[in-house]
Amino acid sequence: MNRPRPTGTRVRVILLTQAIGPLDYRLPDWMDAGPGSVVVVPLGPRKLIGVIWDEGFFADEPIDETRLRNIIELVDVPPIAPGLRRLVDWVADYYLANHAAVLRMVLSSSAALSSGGTITEYRPSGAEPARLTPQRAAALDALVDAQGLVRELAEQAGVSEAVIRGLVKAGALEPVSVAVDSPFTNPDPAHHQPELNAAQEAAAEAMRASVRAGQFEPIVLDGVTGSGKTETYFEAVAEALKYGKQVLVLLPEIALTQPFLQRFETRFGVEPATWHSGMRQAQRRRVWRGVAEGRVQVVAGARSALFLPFAKPGLIIVDEAHEISFKQEDGVRYHARDVAVMRGKFEGFPVVLASATPAIESRHMVSIGRYTGLAIPSRFGAAQLPTVAAIDLTQDAPERGHWIAPTLLRALEDRLERGEQSLLFLNRRGYAPLTLCRSCGHRFQCPNCTAWMVEHRLVRRLACHHCGHVMPPPDACPECSTEDALVPCGPGVERICEEVKRLLPDARTIVATSDTLWSPEKAAEFVAMVEEKAIDIIIGTQLVTKGYHFPDLTLVGVIDADLGLEGGDLRAAERTFQQIAQVAGRAGRAEKPGEVFIQTRNPSHPVIAALVNGDRDGFYDAETAQRQRAGAPPFGRYAAIIVSSEDEGEAIQAARAIGGSAPKTDGMYVYGPAPAPLAMLRGRHRQRLLVHAQRSVELQAILREWLGSLNFPRGVRIGVDVDPYSFM
Ligand code: ADP
Ligand code: ZN
Repeated sequence: MNRPRPTGTRVRVILLTQAIGPLDYRLPDWMDAGPGSVVVVPLGPRKLIGVIWDEGFFADEPIDETRLRNIIELVDVPPIAPGLRRLVDWVADYYLANHAAVLRMVLSSSAALSSGGTITEYRPSGAEPARLTPQRAAALDALVDAQGLVRELAEQAGVSEAVIRGLVKAGALEPVSVAVDSPFTNPDPAHHQPELNAAQEAAAEAMRASVRAGQFEPIVLDGVTGSGKTETYFEAVAEALKYGKQVLVLLPEIALTQPFLQRFETRFGVEPATWHSGMRQAQRRRVWRGVAEGRVQVVAGARSALFLPFAKPGLIIVDEAHEISFKQEDGVRYHARDVAVMRGKFEGFPVVLASATPAIESRHMVSIGRYTGLAIPSRFGAAQLPTVAAIDLTQDAPERGHWIAPTLLRALEDRLERGEQSLLFLNRRGYAPLTLCRSCGHRFQCPNCTAWMVEHRLVRRLACHHCGHVMPPPDACPECSTEDALVPCGPGVERICEEVKRLLPDARTIVATSDTLWSPEKAAEFVAMVEEKAIDIIIGTQLVTKGYHFPDLTLVGVIDADLGLEGGDLRAAERTFQQIAQVAGRAGRAEKPGEVFIQTRNPSHPVIAALVNGDRDGFYDAETAQRQRAGAPPFGRYAAIIVSSEDEGEAIQAARAIGGSAPKTDGMYVYGPAPAPLAMLRGRHRQRLLVHAQRSVELQAILREWLGSLNFPRGVRIGVDVDPYSFM
């Protein structure tokens, strides 16, 4: 008997595997699928996940009809919507990224793609295993309240999966069946509506109207610290809920999630769904499918939430939109703020960028009329903006070996007497950024990176902040063997905390950094302690500069305002201004007035002067004018090309080949190659080139053709960073 001839249409499928380009398959007639459908396809003997893409995508040689293989299976999830497919195309195109890599950010939960309503997780059963090895004991210790997949538990306990499986076999971990798609409780837009003041109401109404219009509108919500931006944009969220639309709120740090969730619950009766890298597979699946099926109405999340497959998206809020943590620096190098705006454009809804210190780029878009600007110019209620003064460290110097100037110390004493709280800001984790041998001058450097090993005294080790390499603090110098000759140089937050304890022994202190507040739970503990007034003085990094609202915090001290101005990359002045304005904004947020001291060696620097005089617009205007003169963003554009290899010669050669073949284009200049400031990172030697182009230049097309025409040895990696924020 003759086999029936296979029938069906030819479709193009993007596989989730980066190494394989899009391939053609046959869509069998009986399969109800089309562009956006998630499918399983054969590749050799393997079965791989892919997504049917739009016609006309990639016009390379199609394979012969006779060699076309059938799609095996349609995965039971809603198809990726056209708007999100356009976004994937745009991100791949604009950031010169691989389509598969971008698509993987959309299909970011493998569990979501499997059918079935339950998943088996494990948790401690309370029973002791017959054989309790030290490893097993340590694992059980680490997993007291834990629950998750074998892989997740292994990661959490820092042991191999074999150890976890052994504990399951021994009965010390028991299986639990988790219903993965349990329903969500919907937020109630009328749960607790606050009364807005006039400025808030005007901004809220503009955003509500935009949500109702259901059209693309980028909005910059520019409100001073403590003006009630959150309460105000919650009104836009409520409006979206009333119209059955979904909302995404992007937050810059996982540590800010907890306070946000609480405020959300106060306003809407329940917490929103969350999305971040620390979630278990079961949680990811539940949220992913809930979002895709339109059952989840609001998601608060990290930048990766931007690629969730919303069924009925109606609004994105980017909170603290000026934050550079929205820029992803590895994998697909994209800026979540800019991608959020593009998503609104492709899917037709407003995108709100909320900040007290908007990025120059965002402000510029308002000034040329491309974005809508909404302002809340004063603090909510009786609260006033704090007074700001500079402390000139050359005149009012701390004692030798100290970092807190007498004026700041007196202000701290004052707050202690009055029972108010203070915050000291220094953007340096750990105890000291450099350890040095007094006898021979040896400096402790990371073996894998061009970076000093940072001393972390609380956990007794030296750590590299770039690659994570750690070592115990040595007793003797490895170079000259002298004992007790190692000295810490410069302060980190831990050292400032030590100084506070020495000078003010009664003060109750806490160090707040990503080392101490590394999970939403830790951050929640921190907030609770400060709110209960179990803390007098917080010593923190940029992590505590934003979002937090502590009514009794009335003093902010900036330990070293000059730190961020050093090095002088393109955004150094802007970033320093934003950071100090934000941390200053933590002071005096309720009835009690706030006071801010900025320690500097250079009080006449324009950034410091603008902060002291409260001349925000003056600073922004001057900085914008300077960018314009330099043709820097947003007036011109940059792209960095980063060449790396384990072999230094190979990296140099490849970088020279790129430099040597740079196309001559009007309005485009290529600088370099030169060794990167971080000349070595994770054991790879790095060279950089910087392309500077006028806005009229078709930068991506040029880069693609230029780099695509070259061949490199296997060990060489070429990374392109479009609109770079890091110049390291
Ligand atoms: P921002 O994010 O602009 O710095 P917040 O949204 O944190 O400001 O608001 C500051 C404080 O004022 C918060 O405690 C907030 O709950 C309160 N607040 C702001 N607006 C209102 C309002 N309309 N009614 C009641 N409380 C408000
Ligand atoms: Zn390192």
